[in-house]
Amino acid sequence: MRILITGGAGFIGSHLCKYYLKKNHEVICVDDLSTGRKENIAESLKNQNFKFIKQDIIRPLDIRDNLDQIYNLACPASPPRYQKDPIFTLKTSVIGSLNILELARKNKATILQGSTSEVYGDPKIHPQPESYWGNVNPTGIRSCYDEGKRAAETLFFDYQRKYKTDIRVVRIFNTYGPNMDSEDGRVVSNFITQALRNENLTVYGDGSQTRSFQYIDDLIEGLIAMMNNEKKFPGPVNMGNPDEFSVLELAQKILALIPESRSKIAHEPLPQDDPKQRKPDIRLAKEKLNWEPKIKLEEGLKKTIEYFREALKLSFRKFPKV
Ligand code: UDP
Repeated sequence: MRILITGGAGFIGSHLCKYYLKKNHEVICVDDLSTGRKENIAESLKNQNFKFIKQDIIRPLDIRDNLDQIYNLACPASPPRYQKDPIFTLKTSVIGSLNILELARKNKATILQGSTSEVYGDPKIHPQPESYWGNVNPTGIRSCYDEGKRAAETLFFDYQRKYKTDIRVVRIFNTYGPNMDSEDGRVVSNFITQALRNENLTVYGDGSQTRSFQYIDDLIEGLIAMMNNEKKFPGPVNMGNPDEFSVLELAQKILALIPESRSKIAHEPLPQDDPKQRKPDIRLAKEKLNWEPKIKLEEGLKKTIEYFREALKLSFRKFPKV
């Protein structure tokens, strides 16, 4: 098969590229490297079945290459990164999705949208089923991401209704693992790198807000199951790990797993519109795809800590405290 992955040099996309190359498929990776990183695709670049196009998806792409499948994962995804240039973020989700949907239409490819639990905003229903329409602030600092991703879902379903495009929409909940960027400001990468550098772990607010953390390997399995599901079930479907933890518990777990760390917990102000709780209802994924995550938080954190130990070796030199 010939598979196009937008955001292929990002955290999730780079794992997908690797997966498909291992299965001897042809992979075209489109990434502007604004948040994606070349290190993530260093191995893939050596493979002759891999093609890299450095471009953002706001500019139309003209690939008529008999694409079979498209994963649309291009978008800054951590709150600090997507808020840095909110207009670019919104354009990536809306204009970008439109461009990639056009590609799918022209190539008659199946297209999967990497949507997000952020479509539920600060949810008033817990856990969140796909049938919940969410509680989203349309004018706040998270809106560029939340509303962009919501509009993208609308475009996907309108392409399905109007052009019969074969779509899949996956709402991805907090995911962590190797290839995360240590500098993107997400909670798991922040806490692990802070602990490894003996810096204080920055818990925003009192740390009672909750998240459910899914290990990357579980998500990759789910995305592939969704893309290839025989009944062409379009979703939207939640993918996440329903084990819920407070941010403070996460900080304590990470400190326990890095016993040599001299870091302490330091509280910082809670960002605006930070969702108080988040936990996926994954019954639909179980029913339609027979998918559920297998990796427990502690096991996944251990693997992620090992990744960051290696990744930070170089940058350790910049931090003489260690
Ligand atoms: N958070 C934190 N310290 C950090 C980074 C994040 O306490 O250094 C909190 C953040 O306020 C949120 C949760 O951790 O409640 C998850 O944040 P993240 O940026 O990973 O993703 P989100 O789920 O908010 O999109």
